[in-house]
Amino acid sequence: MEWLGLQFVAELPESGQVILNCTHNPLLVLVAYLVACAASFATLDMAERVGHAEDPGSRRLWRWIGATCLAGGIWAMHFISMLAFQTPIDIQYDLAITLFSLVIALLASWLAMHTLSEPQPSLLQYFKTAIVIGLGIAGMHYVGMAAMQSAATAYYEPTLFGLSILIAIGASFAALWVAGNLREGSGLHNQMLKYVATLILGAGIISMHFTGMAALHLVLPEGNIPTLRAETSHLQLGLTVAFITLLILGSAISAALADKKLQNKEQDLRRVNMLLSQLDQARMSLQQAANYDALTNLINRRGFNQLFAEKLSQKSTEGGMLAVMFLDIDHFKRINDSLGHDAGDELLKVIAQHIKGSVRGHEDVVARFGGDEFCILIGLRDREEARNLAQRIMLKMKEPIELAGRRMVMTTSIGISLFPEDGTTCEELLKHADLALYQSKGAGRNGVHFFDSNLKNRASLELQLEEELRHALREENGLMLYYQPIFELKTGKVTKLEALIRWQHPLHGLLTPDRFIAIAENNGLIAELDNWVLRKACEDLGELSRHGCDDLKIAWNCSPLNLAREELANEIERALRSAGVAPERLELEVTENALMGNIANTLVLLRQIRALGVSLSIDDFGTGYSSLAYLKRLPLNTLKVDRSFILDIPKATADMEIVQAIIVMAHTLHLQVVTEGVESLEQYEFLERSGCDFIQGYLLSRPVPLHELRPVLEEINQRKHAHPVNPLTLARGTFSPVSMDLSPKSPAPHAGASVVRPIR
Ligand code: C2E
Ligand code: CA
Ligand code: CA
Repeated sequence: MEWLGLQFVAELPESGQVILNCTHNPLLVLVAYLVACAASFATLDMAERVGHAEDPGSRRLWRWIGATCLAGGIWAMHFISMLAFQTPIDIQYDLAITLFSLVIALLASWLAMHTLSEPQPSLLQYFKTAIVIGLGIAGMHYVGMAAMQSAATAYYEPTLFGLSILIAIGASFAALWVAGNLREGSGLHNQMLKYVATLILGAGIISMHFTGMAALHLVLPEGNIPTLRAETSHLQLGLTVAFITLLILGSAISAALADKKLQNKEQDLRRVNMLLSQLDQARMSLQQAANYDALTNLINRRGFNQLFAEKLSQKSTEGGMLAVMFLDIDHFKRINDSLGHDAGDELLKVIAQHIKGSVRGHEDVVARFGGDEFCILIGLRDREEARNLAQRIMLKMKEPIELAGRRMVMTTSIGISLFPEDGTTCEELLKHADLALYQSKGAGRNGVHFFDSNLKNRASLELQLEEELRHALREENGLMLYYQPIFELKTGKVTKLEALIRWQHPLHGLLTPDRFIAIAENNGLIAELDNWVLRKACEDLGELSRHGCDDLKIAWNCSPLNLAREELANEIERALRSAGVAPERLELEVTENALMGNIANTLVLLRQIRALGVSLSIDDFGTGYSSLAYLKRLPLNTLKVDRSFILDIPKATADMEIVQAIIVMAHTLHLQVVTEGVESLEQYEFLERSGCDFIQGYLLSRPVPLHELRPVLEEINQRKHAHPVNPLTLARGTFSPVSMDLSPKSPAPHAGASVVRPIR
């Protein structure tokens, strides 16, 4: 290292004289330490900035500022320390070499800052870089020393020289490690760590310098007399350099601070923006939830009303026609009751898609109002367009839908009102579409009806009927029971009667149950109504016994709604007891879907009723969706095949196969089979061949009041061996009013050949 002017000696040369009284100005040493600390602080600060800066440009800038601060700081520290160095000889510095030492400092500092900008440097990486930086700092120091020109020669003690390099490496490692960690944290703890690290680093840098200085021995050639110089100029220069360096470092630190504040502000602003946009999204999804139906993704009633109001005001000013269409899925409740609500939901989704697929893209509005009720709003030129759309929807609806492993075909009832002819306000048009829908349902469902002003009267008629039914129940006035014989094929006798309610209305005449059962069900009157039928049927059973018919059973119908009432079993028991009738003579008829509604609770109730001795019959079998697994669990005695399967026999061979299968299945489950709605001899013969147990239908008799029953029964039972009669005569015959005295003494009138003998 001769070229650097570094001469290492184990022992000093014999010739020459060692300058022993080299001292350091304590004030300048302190100032140098201060500068070293300030440089360390600035570097740590810049490293933090580099870590936090977001765009690469500003990262690069802070890296350079950091490198300059560190290099400038170390270099100034070195320079001030050299000024603090007091020797009795005159010392000059070579400018070129001094500047070169600054370049070395700058390179080492840049390397330090570069390592610190790595995302997550490893410990080994820190260590390798620390060695290079340490060597760089030491290099700067010793190159700086080589710039020293004086009469004396510089000799270095190797141990202290090595130690100074080690200190440089150690300090660099500490600086890198602390700075790397500072980047992660924040807050007071971080700040304290930074201050402590600053002091340690400053101490490291300065120790390196003074260890290097301790290794130095200046030897004057013999005969050269050292002279004492005044040091005031060194002190002034040192202080000036320190002042300038500190000023520069201070500015850099302030700039970093300002940048940090600015960045924090920017981050705050971004956070606020993000929060605002999140808030906006939340508001939008709230609005979506408020105006949309979650199941089908169609708009809901609320959303529809808004759009409707907008469209209506637009049409009112610009002119044009609008149609409001109400849709109701026919017998949807059956799906929910028998297959469960999940299947019901699935079905609604498919139906919503069908409806959406039938309308014209975005122009028409499709909404779900809840349950199985949908509403469509369309702009149109004439009413035929509305009819066409309704028919398109009805056609689409008839496409089979796969659900819970079954294929089903749904139908829909539609009611339409038109703007402006049927109303000018939203409320009016909706109400009128609803009335039209009501009429569609009343007309047997699966149809379209336009609103007409007469419908208004119908709605008020319903209201009036409800009031009158309430009154009829309260006063026990007008309601009556008709009985329809159920013929047992095995014995060739009528062994059961089905009690069917009628209402003799003062104005509308004799009303059948389909006119008022729904009104009773919808207005909380059904329990009372069924109870009345129960009590009356029990009384009539007593009456029949008194007239010698004590082996006749009566089947009475119970609404599904009634099966949800726990007190039903007690009511049945009370009715039987007060009429003094054996429970075995009563049979309860419940529809398939009523059973499937709430199977667990229904099972408990049915078992209680069975325990009384009352038998159970499943009505309208085949129209619902009950599964065999459930049927097996129910305490049933009888299964009634629905009339719809008999209707087209003998034409419909598929229906014949179904009926035969039902009979076989019922027998396997030890159930007796009643087939209702038997109107023709062919049907009768087919059922007899198929092993059906009971027959009910107009072929035998229509339902008749109790006082007309006796001749009808006798007719059926007596005709066992007579010739078959044309069923047409029968149908006519049963209608002829026959007064009947149930007294056994009175001769039975022949009721105008009112019944036909079933062919056996
Ligand atoms: P349901 O229980 O299926 O009763 C059989 C219906 O079919 C009766 O109608 C009966 O008159 C009719 N019917 C019987 N044989 C024939 C036939 O050969 N051809 C045709 N076309 N029809 C036949 P109804 O009396 O009008 O009763 C209708 C429904 O009203 C009943 O159907 C039942 O569900 C309900 N219902 C009747 N009485 C009561 C009651 O007291 N309480 C309750 N909750 N519902 C009742
Ligand atoms: Ca029935
Ligand atoms: Ca039935």
